[in-house]
Amino acid sequence: MAGVKLFIDGRAVEVPSGATLLEAVRAAGLALPALCHDDRLSTVASCRTCLVDVNGRGLAAACSTPAEDGLRIDVEASREVRRAALQAIVAGLPPRALDIPADRSELVRQCAEYGVAAPSGVVLPPERGVDHSHPYVKLDRDLCIACGRCVRACAEIQGTFALTLVGRGAGTVVAPGTGGPWAESDCVSCGACVDTCPTGALSEPGLLNLLPLERQTLTTCGYCGVGCSLEVSTRGNTIMTVKPAGDGSVNRGHACVKGRFAHGFLGSADRLTTPLIRRNGTLTPATWTEAVGFVAARLGSIRDGQPDGFALISSARATNEENYLAQKFARTVMGTNNVDNCSRLCHAPSAAGLAATFGLGGGTNPFDDLERCDAVLLVGANPTAAHPVVGSRIFQRVMDGARLVVVDPRRTSLARYADVHLRPRPGTNVAVFNGLAHVLVREGLVDTAFLDLHTTGYEELFGLLEDYPPERVAAISGVPADDLVQAALLYGQALAPAIFYGLGVTEHLHGTDGVRTLSNLALLRGAVGPGAGGGVNPLRGQNNVQGASDMGALPDLLPGYQKVLDPAARARCAGTWRVDVPPLPGLRIPQMFDAARAGSLQALWVIGEDVLTTDPDSTAVRAALEACPLVICNDLFLSATAAAADVVFPVAAWLEKDGTFVNFDRRFQRVRQAVEPPAGVRTDFAVLHAVAGRMGADLGCATPAEAMAECAAVAPLFGGISHPRLDREGPLHWPCGSADSAGTPRLYQERFATPDGLAHLAARNYLPPGEQCDAEFPFLLITGRRGEHYNSGSMTRRTGNLRLSADETVDIEPGDAAALGLNDGDPVRLGSRHGTAVLQARITDEVEPGQVFAGFHFPGASVNSLTSRVEDEVTGCPEYKLTAVRLSRS
Ligand code: SF4
Repeated sequence: MAGVKLFIDGRAVEVPSGATLLEAVRAAGLALPALCHDDRLSTVASCRTCLVDVNGRGLAAACSTPAEDGLRIDVEASREVRRAALQAIVAGLPPRALDIPADRSELVRQCAEYGVAAPSGVVLPPERGVDHSHPYVKLDRDLCIACGRCVRACAEIQGTFALTLVGRGAGTVVAPGTGGPWAESDCVSCGACVDTCPTGALSEPGLLNLLPLERQTLTTCGYCGVGCSLEVSTRGNTIMTVKPAGDGSVNRGHACVKGRFAHGFLGSADRLTTPLIRRNGTLTPATWTEAVGFVAARLGSIRDGQPDGFALISSARATNEENYLAQKFARTVMGTNNVDNCSRLCHAPSAAGLAATFGLGGGTNPFDDLERCDAVLLVGANPTAAHPVVGSRIFQRVMDGARLVVVDPRRTSLARYADVHLRPRPGTNVAVFNGLAHVLVREGLVDTAFLDLHTTGYEELFGLLEDYPPERVAAISGVPADDLVQAALLYGQALAPAIFYGLGVTEHLHGTDGVRTLSNLALLRGAVGPGAGGGVNPLRGQNNVQGASDMGALPDLLPGYQKVLDPAARARCAGTWRVDVPPLPGLRIPQMFDAARAGSLQALWVIGEDVLTTDPDSTAVRAALEACPLVICNDLFLSATAAAADVVFPVAAWLEKDGTFVNFDRRFQRVRQAVEPPAGVRTDFAVLHAVAGRMGADLGCATPAEAMAECAAVAPLFGGISHPRLDREGPLHWPCGSADSAGTPRLYQERFATPDGLAHLAARNYLPPGEQCDAEFPFLLITGRRGEHYNSGSMTRRTGNLRLSADETVDIEPGDAAALGLNDGDPVRLGSRHGTAVLQARITDEVEPGQVFAGFHFPGASVNSLTSRVEDEVTGCPEYKLTAVRLSRS
């Protein structure tokens, strides 16, 4: 793009065409106040604090005036005008507006720069009052200057449209669009309004006090797999605020209610600080020496007698280094491959399906490729709730003109902005994906040159697709044939389409087939790898579920996805570990529970998972824990699983430890300790070392940095990853095989990673789901996530988020609710073939008639007592998205 040359205070500068005078002034190394301006938002040019003189002829708002060749901008000469504009703003505010610490108020900083003071003499400030109804957003109306940044941030960054400006003239002030208190508005508590407010009119509790912030720590969010970069400000050992980091991060200065605000659990009164050992049926406090000694002695005798009598469930909440150490403990200290992680319950079909199709088990493209996509196919995911920053960025892209197809039984937030919304009956994905592929072929939207060069298996696929005309797919899935055609045309005609998908694809009896048949679309269209387009991208769930698998916390795969069955891979690990690696794959999580119930599992160590709350058919899980002679649990709190354990180790949370996470687009990011854990609490890393040491084993890698270095040595995929490098250069995408490699944000640019270098199209027929409705169980229950809580809710339920979402609810379609005589908030009894639960009714048209939706964030609600043990035939991932239930008023 051609540049523009102009003069700022006599100095020549060049800026890109389309830049504003404000950008030109900054390019000249100068600064201007711009109180109504935020670079991320549309421009309104209302505050007049950025006025500059143009060509000596007049004043212009720098934020909204385009830079043009030859303009002469006099910044210094117009300083007094800007000072007057600031003074006029301050005159309408109470003097306390300038008492706020400068690091928390843009207005205060600019007033200090321009020598503007609070008006002297009698001041009659407006008295418009406060709204402190919300746990995280405080509104002081008298500090509002009506710049509208909050309103635009809510709409343009978050996509929620919860705020508006009300009143006239000097009385204009921000307010929730719904009119009532903030807490009852549509606000999703992302904090974008607070972050952009230049005056402190919007703030978070405690932030405007006069205490200085002492330390900033850049770390990675420990909630979802988006992996937002967060800057944690502390004073002493107390977190004062958590703000989203900006440039270069996946979140680009945005975050959600969890990462931004939900850290209060750290100081929760029921935090575990002492190990517990079950004695005479009761968990009683023990010293670390006792607890470690007890576990080491029991595990030692299992190792010496029946190593495969031990199993370990590692944690998607823990760091990579802790997961690396956990799998190393299982393999080298205990001598078993019985190690797994909760990706088994969510994206194991992604790893299997993507690896079978493309060669590697991760998403194909960096999330930033969204910016170059002109169409998004979003399938089985509600990122607005489960991956909020991804949801916001997809929303922004759609507002910028990208087309959107949503495939989801529920009317999700993003479905409201979709060009086409397909609502298939749960369990019919494969038919829908085959139907979309049928239309691509029929309409000539297949990239045959790409297929010839880069794929195999298309003759077989083309033959199978003949059986999936839209009319047949409509009969199977309930998706109208015309909508299916429209969706296929939209994806097929886009120049650079991208696929994002979630657990609505994977958590099915045929979840791996779902991933593979969805991936077919990208291959048919040539929109992945060497082709244009945004590829195929699973939205991984928990913060480090990608990393837990990457580190080899899997029964059949060693670090870096090396197969246990591969002698060379075993030898590579054994060479470093100095212990032979067991040659056969171990047990998956459901098989661990089966083994426990069958009496063959002697000890189960569960690190950072509440399997009694999150795993399906919790009645059967409880039976497994009861049958297992020794259950060890690491947790922050006495979760349902910890309460059922024999030994509980109190461990540190993500804000209290050091290491790395891998986010959903394969990005290694540093996790840094912002605060010390409570006295008595240790990291999972330290606990594993302590038990191994008492068993006479040395796990090596004394620090997380050393663990990452060792992992890089045994796993070629991560050979170039190290803590020093991440600290120096920032995030790195794997594969990153050497210190010379810059990482690989975009996979398969030359060839796919399969042995033959080709992507493998999959001809898979639709097969019915495992659970079926009948007269006794006529409703379909879908489970998923709510925006305010995470997973078992053990962290978010101990924060202000509980005020935003206090109970587990079940979404019921209005017609169904009327037929059942249910009103909002009524208790509803759900019964399935596996269990019962009582939830509060939430009546909404987000669900289809005959379908209901519930989260699983409240252990007491026992939602997973309803779900079945039906699992993906390839990977063992549960069929969470589909349970036949009956409903009645409780
Ligand atoms: Fe970002 Fe996810 Fe954390 Fe929210 S929970 S701040 S979207 S990483």
